[in-house]
Amino acid sequence: MNAESNTSLLGLELQELTRIAEETDEPSYRARQLFHALYVERASSLDEVSTLPKDFRSKLKTEGFTPGLPEITKQFVSADGTVRYLMKLADGETVETVWMPEGDEGETGDGSEAGADKARAWSRATICVSSQVGCAVNCQFCLTALLGMKRNLTAGEIIGQVITVLREQKVSPPQDRVNLVFMGMGEPFLNFENFIKAVRLLAKGVGIPESRMTVSTAGIVPRIFDLGESGVRPKLAISLNAPNDELRTQLMPINKKWNLEQLMTAAREFPLRNRERLTFEYVLLRNTNDSAHHARQLAELVRGMKAKINLIALNPGPGVAFQTPTDEAVLHFQKILTDAGVPAFIRRPRGRDIYAACGQLKRTIEMTS
Ligand code: SAH
Repeated sequence: MNAESNTSLLGLELQELTRIAEETDEPSYRARQLFHALYVERASSLDEVSTLPKDFRSKLKTEGFTPGLPEITKQFVSADGTVRYLMKLADGETVETVWMPEGDEGETGDGSEAGADKARAWSRATICVSSQVGCAVNCQFCLTALLGMKRNLTAGEIIGQVITVLREQKVSPPQDRVNLVFMGMGEPFLNFENFIKAVRLLAKGVGIPESRMTVSTAGIVPRIFDLGESGVRPKLAISLNAPNDELRTQLMPINKKWNLEQLMTAAREFPLRNRERLTFEYVLLRNTNDSAHHARQLAELVRGMKAKINLIALNPGPGVAFQTPTDEAVLHFQKILTDAGVPAFIRRPRGRDIYAACGQLKRTIEMTS
């Protein structure tokens, strides 16, 4: 079912709002005020928008227009400060969005507790955003995959997650430093148009610079080329997870459609900006892809590229047959990469205790409700 609701204002560009203003016989500057109210002031209802005349607001309301923010129906707070929100959409479907204060890069790998500095709860934060309800890609180690694919999110629903978290956390970019990662539920590149539209509005309207956004793909090769050509675009991360086709096809069946050679060609040809580099994600699975041999193969695969590797120890969960590697295996894997001249970072899992970490979103809710 398509949930594109004709009453949600969020997700509309200025020109689309202008058309609505014209249809209600309002001057076009009203559309600019509406744009400002939706994306900069982040109003949750038209009643909050006192810059607009009352009769315009009531005309919009009669037409059924609302900003269309999702509703938070549950939230889980982790010991590390991470908050996992369950958000209900207009048609009753739900997605998850995760707030991670103090950044999620985890590049220190020192396991130190974020948020120890209580005077200022956070100095920067990352919001992990979903792009679909469920996922069709079927990666064997991912809990979201077990849900199957329900539907794409609209641009407004993608933006709505971000705005809802900003409101909830009383945070306001660009003054407050907020990063976005499109690494929640779903494969953003299988919902490319809505995703890119959301990115544009998040950058131009909400004020989060594109340089603070990262999108992760399981390897939808044609869309990697498309992203490279997008005017406004986040940084690119590619979920590699295996250094050869045989293993990658086992772990990520999408590799049958676009194999490593095609994927790495797209990655090599990706037009990087100044000082930008690609990220490759590599989920380490015990006795599966975590050996020294795999590390050397991986180093060979990315040799000479302007890229870094984020190593993620598997976040385990019900229904997933793999196990987390030992700490020694993770450190050894990292050392082989760095010794080969490949920057490699161990990502600190965030919110594992509340199933908010990578690959864990939503599944537990489905199972307990
Ligand atoms: N579909 C996109 C966006 C999701 S990002 C993609 O695949 O890139 C989610 C990241 O978490 C991916 O890098 C994925 O490889 C990783 N991941 C999935 N399941 C995981 C798990 N159980 N433990 C750790 N990381 C996982």
